[in-house]
Amino acid sequence: MFCLGIESTAHTFGIGIVSDRGEILSNVSSIYKPPKGWGIKPTDAAQHHKKISQTLLKKSLKLAKKTLKDIELVAFSQGPGLPPCLHTGLNFAKQLKKPLIGVNHCIAHIEIAKLLTGAKDPITLYVSGANTQILGFTEGRYRCFGETMDIGAGNALDKFGREIGLSFPAGPKIERLAKKGKYTELPYVVKGMDLSFSGIVTAALNKFKKGTPIEDLCFSIQEIFFSMLTEVTERALAHTGKKEVLLTGGVAANKRLKEMLEIMCKERKAKFYTVPKEFAGDNGAMIAWTGTLAYKSGMKTKEEVLPRQRTDEVDVEWI
Ligand code: AMP
Ligand code: MG
Repeated sequence: MFCLGIESTAHTFGIGIVSDRGEILSNVSSIYKPPKGWGIKPTDAAQHHKKISQTLLKKSLKLAKKTLKDIELVAFSQGPGLPPCLHTGLNFAKQLKKPLIGVNHCIAHIEIAKLLTGAKDPITLYVSGANTQILGFTEGRYRCFGETMDIGAGNALDKFGREIGLSFPAGPKIERLAKKGKYTELPYVVKGMDLSFSGIVTAALNKFKKGTPIEDLCFSIQEIFFSMLTEVTERALAHTGKKEVLLTGGVAANKRLKEMLEIMCKERKAKFYTVPKEFAGDNGAMIAWTGTLAYKSGMKTKEEVLPRQRTDEVDVEWI
């Protein structure tokens, strides 16, 4: 069976085609970029998605060497996400006139990473622009053991970067500058299992205004953010007794974050996995694969979008 998956929660419109044996036949996407100095305007992103959809459909089928007739199932990203973008994805999915299944975006990030790394039952650290969650499967759902109480770590890095003159996405640029920096004190904000990033950004910007070199601020913001993430991930491992850590989401590209997690895993004799870069950010293949798992387990979903759907609200019947 072949499934076509559509990702459209935010800046990325992606289409992927996978087989039910977990072969990825194609994975194409187009990213909406807001004008310089601006954040995403949801209706503009949705327009971008609508405009590009037919082109990407053709491209994905061609790459997969399939026609629409070969596709038996269409999976769409149901939420969480920006409502206009989610609706564009669902409307496009409906036009294809196939059985439809809705997929939770965050769970899709976990499932594609499990497929590609071979991780079986990990604690997942999912760190992207908009999301930061520490997740693990127990009793029928992906439980959220910890999460950000304000913005995602990626957005926090981007916001800090924007204010000190780095273009979007700032994460990779901060990583480069950090190599030349030394530590300057910033707040460390972990409350139980939850984290908060925006106050740290404010503190770093205050230091910037007082003349602290940006290299030092980039180094320190990374050390603080990634120590916080590693601390909560370690505690989730300890409490659940799981033996694997899986890193996914756009910030998974950062070498320093990987290094810290690797050290922690080594000390705890846990295995450490990182999703391959191509599948770290939002993509259609992850929706197609998770839709396949859900469909084969007999799950059904309504043809609706759920902009505020939480990871731990979804019953996972395929595990
Ligand atoms: P996503 O939302 O999953 O597409 O991820 C995008 C986010 O990942 C943006 O906030 C980027 O700044 C961040 N990002 C990408 N590469 C890196 C990196 N090398 N270090 C830190 N953050 C990164
Ligand atoms: Mg994402």
